[in-house]
Amino acid sequence: MKQFAKPFLVSAALWAATPLPVHAEMDVARLKAAIETSVEADYPKLDALYKDIHAHPEIAFQEVNTAAKLAAEMRALGFEVTEKVGQTGLVAIYRNGDGPTIMVRTELDALPMEEKTGLAYASHDKTTWNGRETFVAHSCGHDIHMASWVGTAKTLVGLKDQWHGTLMFIAQPAEEMTSGAKAMLDDGLFTRFPKPDFAFGLHDGAGAYGTVSYRVGIGSSTADALVIKFHGRGGHGAAPQRTIDPVMMAARFIVDVQSVISREKDPTEFGVISIGAIHGGTAVNIIPDDVLVLGTIRTFKPEVRTKMLAGIERTANAVAAMSDAPPPEIKITEAAKAVMNDPGVVATAEKVLKAAFGDKSRTSPPVTASEDFSEFVNAGVPSMFFNIGVYEPERVAAARNGTGAQLPDNHSPLFAPVPKPTIETGVKAMTLVVLSAFDQHARGK
Ligand SMILES: [Zn+2]
Ligand SMILES: [Zn+2]
Repeated sequence: MKQFAKPFLVSAALWAATPLPVHAEMDVARLKAAIETSVEADYPKLDALYKDIHAHPEIAFQEVNTAAKLAAEMRALGFEVTEKVGQTGLVAIYRNGDGPTIMVRTELDALPMEEKTGLAYASHDKTTWNGRETFVAHSCGHDIHMASWVGTAKTLVGLKDQWHGTLMFIAQPAEEMTSGAKAMLDDGLFTRFPKPDFAFGLHDGAGAYGTVSYRVGIGSSTADALVIKFHGRGGHGAAPQRTIDPVMMAARFIVDVQSVISREKDPTEFGVISIGAIHGGTAVNIIPDDVLVLGTIRTFKPEVRTKMLAGIERTANAVAAMSDAPPPEIKITEAAKAVMNDPGVVATAEKVLKAAFGDKSRTSPPVTASEDFSEFVNAGVPSMFFNIGVYEPERVAAARNGTGAQLPDNHSPLFAPVPKPTIETGVKAMTLVVLSAFDQHARGK
């Protein structure tokens, strides 16, 4: 992978000639133009980086080559890079005088699935994961985030006469397992390195490219993993009276647990339970001893979560009791907390995003997916996590009004962002929100 040998001559020169007076309001129009000039000039390199990472994805905690590529880019920009933070994560620091430390996070990991986009730069790579061979694909778009992250770093270095403080760019492993953020924190992310004053992250999705969406407060859901083992007593399928049938229990549970959603939860509050896997039995005529049911529970609010977990446990115990079976083993593990966006950080960023993107920048409902970016927020860093779109606006409009095909979401084997406008929007939006946070801090508001 080629590195950026000559950082950002175009807009650095442009800005050196016309420095802004100290404590002036941010001139968003001029900054935006400078950022656009910079990204346009750098885009061929960002495109090559994106397509290289896309074609050679790596799965959670295996992101060795991906991290090495990013480390090389950041070193070439003058960042001080520490590798292997939280196994495969990296931390890149750039000091530029007195001021706040601002963290920008990307993920490194891809998914254990086969890409079916047919793109020239599609992944055909395989790896071994959990003892099995699997295809690997960047079907969540973390490669877009990485290209935007490098582009943002480069743009901010080029604009370094416009801000003072420290950039802390981190590349996090294993977001899809919601364990990489914690791995970095446990490895001293906020003790070996400065604890940031603010943090930003972004995620792409099946909206229109060129759009930015964000919100104050809850940005994504709390995720709990559900594992239930129903214990019965196996026997012949022709003599069920001499067995206790765990398949029946699992079937009842899967249907009845949805009444926790429809009858117990407040219908105006978000909460979902989806069963993703059932494991039990071997043959048509054998009633097995036990059946394993795996699912995910998503909520926004703690009180809704508490109520749902109680209902789910009660339903599991009740279906076992109905069959005169022993109580099931129920394990519910919190995988990620909801991301809470800081009102002050969002308010500052919003002004700048509105000025730069107009009505293509808008508030949005929280996403029902989950994000371990919440680990950084919960470690006490006021943050903003926002979303950008990846598809042609016309195709998105046609899909929404029913005249065009549904567009593939993240985690679809067909997820295929349009690279240039998506990465450019990522760089532009991220650079502007970071500058807005530096600016706000400098003016002491
Ligand atoms: Zn994902
Ligand atoms: Zn993702």
